[in-house]
Amino acid sequence: MADENLDIDALLEENRVVDPPEGFTANALIQDDSVYRDADADFEAFWASQAQRLTWSRPWESVLEWTPPWVKWFAGGRLNISVNCLDRHLVANADRIAYYWEGEPGEQRAITYQDLYRDVCRFANALRALGVSKGDRVGIYMGMVPELPVAMLACARLGAVHSVIFGGFSADAVRDRMIDAEAKVLVTQDGGWRRGAQVPLKDNIDRALEGAPSVKSVVVVRRTGQDVGWVEGRDAWYHDLVAAQPDACDPEEMDAEDPLYILYTSGTTGKPKGILHTTGGYLVGVATTHRLIFDIHPESDVYWCAADIGWVTGHSYIVYGPLANGTTSVLYEGAPDFPDKDRWWSMIERYRATILYTAPTAIRSFMKWGTEYPAKHDLSSLRLLGTVGEPINPEAWMWYWEFIGGELCPVVDTWWQTETGMILITPLPGITRLKPGSGTKPFPGVVADIFDENGKSVGPNTGGSLVLKRPWPAMSRTIWGDRDRYVQQYFSRFGPSVYLTGDGAKRDDDGYFWLLGRIDDVMNVAGHRLSTFEIESALVDHPAVAEAAVVSRADETVGEAIVAYVTLKASEHGDEALIADLREHVAEKIGKIARPHGIILTDDLPKTRSGKIMRRLLRDVANGRTLGDVTTLANADVVDQIRTLAASAPAEE
Ligand code: ATP
Ligand code: MG
Repeated sequence: MADENLDIDALLEENRVVDPPEGFTANALIQDDSVYRDADADFEAFWASQAQRLTWSRPWESVLEWTPPWVKWFAGGRLNISVNCLDRHLVANADRIAYYWEGEPGEQRAITYQDLYRDVCRFANALRALGVSKGDRVGIYMGMVPELPVAMLACARLGAVHSVIFGGFSADAVRDRMIDAEAKVLVTQDGGWRRGAQVPLKDNIDRALEGAPSVKSVVVVRRTGQDVGWVEGRDAWYHDLVAAQPDACDPEEMDAEDPLYILYTSGTTGKPKGILHTTGGYLVGVATTHRLIFDIHPESDVYWCAADIGWVTGHSYIVYGPLANGTTSVLYEGAPDFPDKDRWWSMIERYRATILYTAPTAIRSFMKWGTEYPAKHDLSSLRLLGTVGEPINPEAWMWYWEFIGGELCPVVDTWWQTETGMILITPLPGITRLKPGSGTKPFPGVVADIFDENGKSVGPNTGGSLVLKRPWPAMSRTIWGDRDRYVQQYFSRFGPSVYLTGDGAKRDDDGYFWLLGRIDDVMNVAGHRLSTFEIESALVDHPAVAEAAVVSRADETVGEAIVAYVTLKASEHGDEALIADLREHVAEKIGKIARPHGIILTDDLPKTRSGKIMRRLLRDVANGRTLGDVTTLANADVVDQIRTLAASAPAEE
């Protein structure tokens, strides 16, 4: 992407403002903005003071060593992450619930910190007996069962490097990742539950491992009880392995810079990258951001991050951050619409959840399904909402604020990436004036900027390339096995000390950041550089629309013509008049230049398995090209459907 144009026209103006709700600030961990000033004055001292909240077996010698683009945080310090997430809570809070787990069929378990500690120690001992030791890679391919965080923490206890592969991935995707990581052991389940059906996890593994000879042992958690194939000498049941293991396990003392895990990115833009995260800085980063952004009061909060642990959001904000902070979390195995579309809301009512953190894609599904589902339940326990994964359309933000939060819960729109390990742009809920659709400001100590093509900082209300100009503790250290690609991808466009995010953004007059989607998705229309996201937001602003994806198609007259794929709310019916209305709505909202040339109504949009819209595939369809990499696509049939729709769509204007 070396010479790609990074400029973007900014069109959408969103003027709604929401102040922190009355009463929230009075009990918030952060009640004034001195935290920004302190962190600005001396960011190393800020991170060092946050690091003091953790338990170190040896103190660090230096907070930061920055030899761009290579970084070390807390060099010389030693610690074990599982000790920080478990052992240190046992003194005072052994009986606190770590996870309320609910299986999709309805089983409920309350797992205390003491329970989790015991399970982690036993499984760590079992892994050790299989020959796993410090630095070995362990693959994990599971659904959202309690044994998943147990397996991750057991690896961390031994200093083994886990690589979690999302349980919705195919055998081929697992094989590629296991080969890349050279995993020695793989932990899986017989099967998982999804929308009432059994997902054949173990079968997928049997196929995946045909081409991944490094894996010598497979550990299988019995979950569904379905029949599975068995390879003698390789496969073992989890319950057999842990049965005879003691309830304690000596933790490996790790260097702050020792690897913790490899995680492959979602693959929205192309071939996934194996992102490596390390120990000390990562834990400081995720524990601090989790605590301050979600305003965690561990003695009273019931926190629910509804992501899958297979994504970075789950790693940082279901497992490591929350456990380091002694939080009580909700963990749910299945689909949001099983047995009906109110499953989440029934769970919030059941566990009296106080914080909900989810993705725009989920919020837009709920919008599509209708407000009657949340309305059936008592959601009054909620006091804070969060979103992550994509830019959130202002209308979806307002919907979340109104129908889920009852206009009483701040919404924290958190921008970050697998590579950044922790949230970097976000409100602080007790003090930040919120604007729907804006991630607001960089977290204390973080320096973000927006560059034009030439690496010059752009002024207000101008789009450009989002960059980070100062290291932060949870940043990834490399791409596994490919240091050159790491430098090339993130630290070459503007030199080795500026991190290129790949996302577009603008700042408003108040210095608020507005994410505009991927630089790769920006369109060239009649001499303008348009963000797909702003046009999508203008469409979602129309009362009939639940979701929209905008791409461009090569066009002789305008260079690129705008094509919009639109999903309506369940209660709406589409016809020619509505399509004309939608085009006008965009023109009015953000300008004639952005009026889609063609609009195609569709029931669904192609998404990654983490739920992000994959515009590059729609672009391929719109331009009649063969599809690019589809290995991370979740809903393959929708692309065929859209192809057919596109072929029979009415003439464009
Ligand atoms: P790949 O890098 O393989 O294409 P990916 O970028 O989708 O995959 P992730 O690391 O899961 O993989 O996603 C990070 C990206 O998600 C960000 O770069 C950004 O585009 C988007 N994103 C996440 N949170 C937000 C947010 N709050 N606002 C806007 N965009 C967001
Ligand atoms: Mg990315």
